Amino acid sequence: MIPVQGYQGLTVGVLGLGRSGLATARALAAGGAIPLCWDDNPAARETAEAEGFAVADLTREMGSLATLVVSPGIPHLYPKPNPVIAAAYEAGVPVDNDIGLFFRSLGQGEWMMHDTPPKVIAITGSNGKSTTTALIHHILEHAGREAQLAGNIGRGVLDIDPPGDGGVVVLELSSYQTDLARALTPDVAVFTNFSPDHLDRHGGIGGYFAAKRRLFAEGGPDRAIIGVDEAEGLYLTDQLAVAPADDRVIRISSARKLTGPGWQVFARKGFLSEYRKGKQVASIDLREVKGLPGAHNHQNACAAFAACRTLGLSPRLIEEAFASFGGLPHRSQRIAEKDGVAYVNDSKATNVDSAAKALQAFHNIRWICGGLEKEGGLGPLLPHTGSVSKAYVIGREAANFAIQLTGIEAEVCTDMETAVARAMAEAQPGDTVLLAPACASFDQYDSFEKRGEDFTNRVLAALG
Ligand code: ADP
Repeated sequence: MIPVQGYQGLTVGVLGLGRSGLATARALAAGGAIPLCWDDNPAARETAEAEGFAVADLTREMGSLATLVVSPGIPHLYPKPNPVIAAAYEAGVPVDNDIGLFFRSLGQGEWMMHDTPPKVIAITGSNGKSTTTALIHHILEHAGREAQLAGNIGRGVLDIDPPGDGGVVVLELSSYQTDLARALTPDVAVFTNFSPDHLDRHGGIGGYFAAKRRLFAEGGPDRAIIGVDEAEGLYLTDQLAVAPADDRVIRISSARKLTGPGWQVFARKGFLSEYRKGKQVASIDLREVKGLPGAHNHQNACAAFAACRTLGLSPRLIEEAFASFGGLPHRSQRIAEKDGVAYVNDSKATNVDSAAKALQAFHNIRWICGGLEKEGGLGPLLPHTGSVSKAYVIGREAANFAIQLTGIEAEVCTDMETAVARAMAEAQPGDTVLLAPACASFDQYDSFEKRGEDFTNRVLAALG
């Protein structure tokens, strides 16, 4: 645990008592603060009370709070602020989150004792955050470095162990988290790519970009690794670099060769290249790396490579670690192969951009798609459906979804059972049966994980 510094003897409101909220309450108490907790869900309040935390309706307690710490799932501005947060704004109580507390509390005092100060690598972006975070962690472990995963895919950030000499914290950050944290001071910050998502929570695309950009603006990392395949990434690099050769900014691309005197890492035709000062310094063949299929994963590989290079790891060591990376469940995850047919679970493809990337990574695709559609429609997906032999559409609104798939043979299956059975019955050797829904799962499942597990279990049962 990282005890929270700076609030000793003060009362701190904790709004939201899920995994990160409870970890925050514990870390506050460990640092000598007095957490006062609330969650709209009575069961969550009971859990906190059972641990000995005081619970109160925080809208009535603003006068006693030094600060209010909120969980990422709770809207703080759009579509409208949660009533407790609105009360804090009204009373002038600073609103923060566990990430802000973490950066404030890390590395005070005892870090003077380390020979090599610990480092924090923070990863944000629209897609590929978890994969890139897990890959960096995997490479560091392969290299024998002390590394801890934190944030969305690891432990709650205040729940991790204080990093040791030379230790590295690899921290995945969503736009909800970067939007609110009052301190954001990683040593290395990564921005994988940018496409519209979560627009309701950010009041549109400008708000979404502004939230992500805070990771680079508040404090400023020593090194910024930025995907420049979209205008937003290019703009960000231009804002951060003081000259073309400024190598505090590392540009990455999975779409084109990057030129210029700066530090660049790009992947083209399956080969990763690193250039510095106009010269190639490393090259890695990614085509046979099973855990990182497709150009989108090559982009993640470029970002992870760059992050590890900033820590002084050699290209050869990173290449070895790529080969042993198993990939993450529900992200381009090859779950089976039989009679020449591959089965891939990409249930995490919850938006149009990530599904488009999956469709570009495979051939002869029997595509299981559909679910709860996100704002913006399917239009941007259609140019990438060239490898689809047929779509098998699930979801409560399956018929409506199927109509939008112009130019593709689409069968309305509605449920996973039917979709898997139909796709398997029609698959030919050389085909890939791919779950890449392009939609959220909540119309039929509790989570994308449950949807991916349903797909996997049905496929494995049918294959015997
Ligand atoms: P995040 O944590 O940002 O949601 P994940 O690594 O969990 O990212 O991947 C989410 C989805 O996006 C998966 O469907 C995955 O296959 C796809 N994906 C992974 N990396 C990228 C990328 N660099 N660009 C676009 N899509 C990606």
